[in-house]
Amino acid sequence: MLTASCHCGAVKVEVPRKPRSLTSCNCSICRRYGVLWAYYKDADVRLVARSGTTDEYIWGDRSQKFIRCKQCGCVMQWKKLKVGEGTSAGVNARNFEPSALRAVRIRFLDGAKTWKYVG
Ligand SMILES: [Zn+2]
Repeated sequence: MLTASCHCGAVKVEVPRKPRSLTSCNCSICRRYGVLWAYYKDADVRLVARSGTTDEYIWGDRSQKFIRCKQCGCVMQWKKLKVGEGTSAGVNARNFEPSALRAVRIRFLDGAKTWKYVG
């Protein structure tokens, strides 16, 4: 198991394993957040936070929400609003200990235009 923690420690995200790759996306929100996404099945992602310690941001087609720590502001994950079997979720890998990400490949997603991986 691997745990991502926000800076103040109030919010944690648990996942079952190291990510196989990380995604850097240049879409309007990801480039502002400066996050690196690790993708998992939603069912494999556990948000560990007392109620009232998170805020969320929903925009555009309202298909997903971005969850952040209310105290320190760290972006923790995105989650689809409609979760079914096999639905994916993104965890901000910047909140893992750096040693967990050593040698994990970073892929670049052109989320701004083509929605294709460009590197
Ligand atoms: Zn925090």
